[in-house]
Amino acid sequence: MQTHVTVPLLLGQGSKEQKRTWLQPVLSGRVITAVAITEPTGGSDLVNSTATRAVPTDRGWLLDGEKTFITNAPLADCLFVLARTDAGAGALGMTFFLVPADLPGVQVQQLETVGLRSSRTGRVRFTGCELPAEAVLGRPGLAMAYLAQVLGEERLAISAGVLECARCCVERTAGLLAVATSQRARAELAGWLVEVEAAEAFLDAAVERFDNGAGDRLDADLAKTMSARLAQRVVNGCARLIGPDAFDAAGGGSSLLPALRDVRVLSVFGGSCETVRDSAAAEILRGAAARRRTAPLVPAGSRHA
Ligand SMILES: Cc1cc2nc3c(=O)[nH]c(=O)nc-3n(C[C@H](O)[C@H](O)[C@H](O)COP(=O)(O)OP(=O)(O)OC[C@H]3O[C@@H](n4cnc5c(N)ncnc54)[C@H](O)[C@@H]3O)c2cc1C
Repeated sequence: MQTHVTVPLLLGQGSKEQKRTWLQPVLSGRVITAVAITEPTGGSDLVNSTATRAVPTDRGWLLDGEKTFITNAPLADCLFVLARTDAGAGALGMTFFLVPADLPGVQVQQLETVGLRSSRTGRVRFTGCELPAEAVLGRPGLAMAYLAQVLGEERLAISAGVLECARCCVERTAGLLAVATSQRARAELAGWLVEVEAAEAFLDAAVERFDNGAGDRLDADLAKTMSARLAQRVVNGCARLIGPDAFDAAGGGSSLLPALRDVRVLSVFGGSCETVRDSAAAEILRGAAARRRTAPLVPAGSRHA
């Protein structure tokens, strides 16, 4: 969260004062941040489902609302909160605020999640929080554009995590079954490893394009969709090959329980597979339509063919 979302947001949109207050402490690890976007009513369709509101006052803004499943919330010193600031402006009515977690009116409650248990997740309520005008990150109304800029990087990072999870499971399963395994099981394991390698190659190329400033959201969305689905299939398949020991809650050497849990949660985290897939599909269709518009109807040289 900190490396791929809040630091890029601060670097890209933070004012001098916000950078002075938060950036150095965040980079040194002394301060923990969280991104509070998802609400109890949903996290996929943010423009329509965000009910958290910030209303302008004489001294700044008044923030009210509730966020849920917020990574780092129980530890965070500063929350990057998405709020609606103009009810009639759709996507252009959304604004990010930097909210210190110890501000009066902020209440945090820890949640127990099924997976990613080393990461603390929480629910946050904002009740009549008075924010100064300088709490706005960037410009009012542009939060969705800022979010679009950083989501790609976050999705690439999630893809790397799920693929590593799948690779570890294949390797562990191969190690466990090394002696007495059927030809069919060996073929399945080899096939999964090839798929993981292919997905990693796609991800590496996408990361390189991002590093060179030529990355786009489509790459990240495709990587996230492909990796999350592949990893779920591979981890489930490994558990099937290992048998009941894979589900040993006591965590024996054959247990894949943490991977089974994490891989499921990671496919929701950072945007669910279905919505990320739909956004990639829409982008691909837009690209195809644009190419059709600009391509000549009859390819040059083929008129008399
Ligand atoms: C461990 C964990 C950590 C998280 N950390 C954060 C965080 O730090 N900050 C934060 O803001 N959020 C966080 N989230 C929330 C996460 O980003 C959301 O869960 C995710 O965006 C999906 O939103 P939702 O769960 O509200 O699903 P909803 O939007 O309620 O959707 C429910 C289901 O419907 C499906 N669906 C929705 N729309 C469509 C559609 N158009 N077509 C097909 N299917 C659809 C979705 O795929 C989903 O499966 C975290 C979640 C988890 C589990």
